[in-house]
Amino acid sequence: MVKAPRGTQDIFGNSSAIWQRIEATAIKLFNEAGFQEIRTPIFESSELFSRAVGESSDIVNKEMYTFNDRSERSLTLRPEGTAGVVRAFIENSFDREGLPAKLWYRGPMFRYERPQTGRYRQFHQIGIEAIGAKAPYIDLEIIKLGVNFIQDLGLTNLTLHINSLGNSSSRENYIAALKVFLKESLEHVCEDCQRRYEQNPLRCLDCKVPEDQKIYQNAPTIIKYLDEESQKIWQETQNGLTELGIKYQIDEKLVRGLDYYTHVVFELKTKSEKLAGQNTVLAGGRYDNLVKNLGGGDYASVGWALGIERIATLIEETHQISKLYIISDSPIEALKLADKLRLETKKIAIELAYEETKFKKQLEKAIKRDYQWALFYLSEERNSGLFKLKNLRENKEYDKLDYSQVLELL
Ligand code: ATP
Ligand code: MG
Repeated sequence: MVKAPRGTQDIFGNSSAIWQRIEATAIKLFNEAGFQEIRTPIFESSELFSRAVGESSDIVNKEMYTFNDRSERSLTLRPEGTAGVVRAFIENSFDREGLPAKLWYRGPMFRYERPQTGRYRQFHQIGIEAIGAKAPYIDLEIIKLGVNFIQDLGLTNLTLHINSLGNSSSRENYIAALKVFLKESLEHVCEDCQRRYEQNPLRCLDCKVPEDQKIYQNAPTIIKYLDEESQKIWQETQNGLTELGIKYQIDEKLVRGLDYYTHVVFELKTKSEKLAGQNTVLAGGRYDNLVKNLGGGDYASVGWALGIERIATLIEETHQISKLYIISDSPIEALKLADKLRLETKKIAIELAYEETKFKKQLEKAIKRDYQWALFYLSEERNSGLFKLKNLRENKEYDKLDYSQVLELL
């Protein structure tokens, strides 16, 4: 039997209902905040990611699905969404329509990682970008949207972590100091970190190896190295968060895995054990040089992306849409009733038997499939116009209900 490739999964049943809820919540929120959807290709020229995400990032170094097509073009399945969105922004001259361009996207991403809870090779993100907007007020709105999204889904127990990576000159000064520190323990850290030390020392702080993390606890932190401009933006961001009533925690080791970040970076982290260590569900920051680096204008920008699989894992499994099964001896009568109920009830899934089977069999099926309601619609009910309704989960029966009473109970 051919199986799904390692690190991929089929989404169906209750999971699918949860995914729909996540997507619907995002769409509503983004529409209300004036963000427009953009759909970019799932594969792009490989060069786009090496230039955007960075040659020295883990993603480009060891996680990309890169292949040559039949005309020997090097293509890559997108590992993240920002690069494609920025490419589309430049290619379609979105700047002509006024700035900032406020965009959102959703869809599958691909990274060759070791599959485990909350970490897959095909995973799905929802993300937003504001391109052509200077810090810090748009950053505040972007962060607030992330927080609101989590709240709208009813998720608690998440903490906002923030840090600043400053502008380029602040970062250079900091990296020089960090290199001095890293050099001392270079033999004791993992091979990846030894490479990172040469190529992009900042990335060491993002290492997932616990022993390395212990060493880095004593590393110098970046905030002290922020110049005046960066310091000002950092202060204003924090003041704004306080003013908006958003609780946050400063995390001076937060550097993010991609190379393009500047100034504020942030993550929403959960304390739930369910994700077995993959505890960042939403992450982002400011990227002031990316548009220019990809050949566009000098447009400062900010955005975030969340992982749908990780959010879905956090949503209680109790979330299920209500389902009703019509028990009937006449498929055509059941169909007519289903049609009427579907028009007049919202948020309820209605099923019926399409063949004439014994009503006991229909009831068994409804119970097996975990329907909450069974609505009896046999000749007796049709003649009297009064229904019998059974709550299958609570094993409660309601007899002789008229149609409006049925609607009230559902
Ligand atoms: P991590 O540190 O966990 O590897 P990351 O920093 O590589 O995450 P980002 O590139 O910032 O992640 O992507 C944003 C979000 O996408 C993450 O916070 C996470 O929710 C999700 N995500 C990233 N990689 C994966 C993956 N391989 N499987 C599932 N979700 C993922
Ligand atoms: Mg990663």
